[in-house]
Amino acid sequence: MNESKFAHITKVHPCFNEKMHDKVGRVHLPIAPRCNIQCNFCTRELNKCEQRPGVSSRVMTVEEAVTHVAKVIKEMPISVVGVAGPGDALANPETLEFFRIIDKKFPDLIKCMSTNGLLLADLAEEVAAVNISTITVTVNAIDPEIGKKIYSRAVYDGKVYEGEEAFKIISEKQLEGIEKVSKLGVVVKVNSVLIPGLNDEHIPDIAQEVKKRGASLMNVIPLIPLYKMKDYQRPGCEELSTVRDNVEEILPVFRACTQCRADAYGVPGKEDKHLDMTPASHY
Ligand code: SF4
Ligand code: SF4
Ligand code: SF4
Repeated sequence: MNESKFAHITKVHPCFNEKMHDKVGRVHLPIAPRCNIQCNFCTRELNKCEQRPGVSSRVMTVEEAVTHVAKVIKEMPISVVGVAGPGDALANPETLEFFRIIDKKFPDLIKCMSTNGLLLADLAEEVAAVNISTITVTVNAIDPEIGKKIYSRAVYDGKVYEGEEAFKIISEKQLEGIEKVSKLGVVVKVNSVLIPGLNDEHIPDIAQEVKKRGASLMNVIPLIPLYKMKDYQRPGCEELSTVRDNVEEILPVFRACTQCRADAYGVPGKEDKHLDMTPASHY
């Protein structure tokens, strides 16, 4: 872990420090609609009401996103600019193009992204070159027997991989990517989606592996049962808490996450907004 960088980041990043979660804000720019893998629990939607990742009111162009940043940093205490979908940040070249501009225009804002990690190893140098300081990589398995039930497809280098082959390439690239960007000084948090009966006992193994690769923090988030996993149970608080306690013996755990939208902005849980919200006065 890059100790001094981690200490600096945790002072100002709502997603890396529970104490700051309701004090400083982030702005998400929904400029990344495409995804290069298929997770069996994911549907991406454009709507104005659902509160979850993968959802945005609309997709922005890079220019619109830069204008949005300039506007919101005047209105609220924003310390972090993030790209979190609604697809995969790195599967969309707009993401790095956007961060290149932000790095020049607003060098003091922390640049952050979340990714499935498939392209992280290949783009590690470019990510570091635009001064992205924090990355969240979602890793839901390292064991192929479990992983093949979570992911059904990956498209890498123009080739389509299905089932176990898809998991193999996703996992290999995720772990290689975490290792590479960590060595380049990026602070890495790993998100794991807790899927009861599938990876609940496996998440501490993920923690062991990603710790070896350089991750600093973990965030265990409950499955939102959708798509092919719509019949799975959403984990209860107690189950979530047990898995988090087990992970905490290996890596620090972030517990304040409520899984926000790809177009959220403001101070999480306090002054929290998203694009095209219907003003409260309309109700
Ligand atoms: Fe959905 Fe993200 Fe999985 Fe892509 S990586 S399928 S956007 S959850
Ligand atoms: Fe937080 Fe993830 Fe957004 Fe970064 S990309 S600001 S870690 S929610
Ligand atoms: Fe990040 Fe989760 Fe907080 Fe949203 S709720 S800002 S995703 S830590």
